[in-house]
Amino acid sequence: MDYYSKQISKLIEELSCLPGIGAKSAQRLAFHILNMPTEQVEALSSAIIEAKRNVKYCKNCFTLTDEDVCPICKDKARNRKVIMVVENTRDLAAYEKTGKFDGVYHVLHGAISPMLGIGPNDIKLKELLVRLEQDVDEVIIATNSSLEGETTAMYISKLIKPTGIKVTRIASGVPVGGDLEYIDEVTLLRALEGRKEL
Ligand code: ZN
Repeated sequence: MDYYSKQISKLIEELSCLPGIGAKSAQRLAFHILNMPTEQVEALSSAIIEAKRNVKYCKNCFTLTDEDVCPICKDKARNRKVIMVVENTRDLAAYEKTGKFDGVYHVLHGAISPMLGIGPNDIKLKELLVRLEQDVDEVIIATNSSLEGETTAMYISKLIKPTGIKVTRIASGVPVGGDLEYIDEVTLLRALEGRKEL
């Protein structure tokens, strides 16, 4: 990339580190940014920095939020006795978009994967068990239908079973290996309504 000056090359290089951004897209974005009004570029960069500085885990459900407790956990109208377990904050957002789930969530931040060396201690599983010491009626496991998601679901259900709390798994209908966030709301709702006890 010798045809560009140092700072342009640096910008392209940083952008190409982002997922889904190849060398060509990085160049396109870099020149787009350089053509943007200064205020807009400043707004973009400060949004990135502020979010990175202030976003943390919700103390309760471990979703990403810029407050100590996220708006869902704060909401008094939500049913705290039903906890839906998801792999990440994007999956939580997918279920929230349906507007039909009135329980609360627990975000694992990953899934168990022996192949990648990710074990139960590498995700927010202990934190879930602590929550189950409170009055909980049902845990809905809504991990993805990938191998890792299924492994995690089985692991969680075995852990929870002895406590007597009802454990359910969202119905398949969610395509195998499918990332929850790409699945439409109707399919998600069907999967939720068709959940089965484990
Ligand atoms: Zn929360």
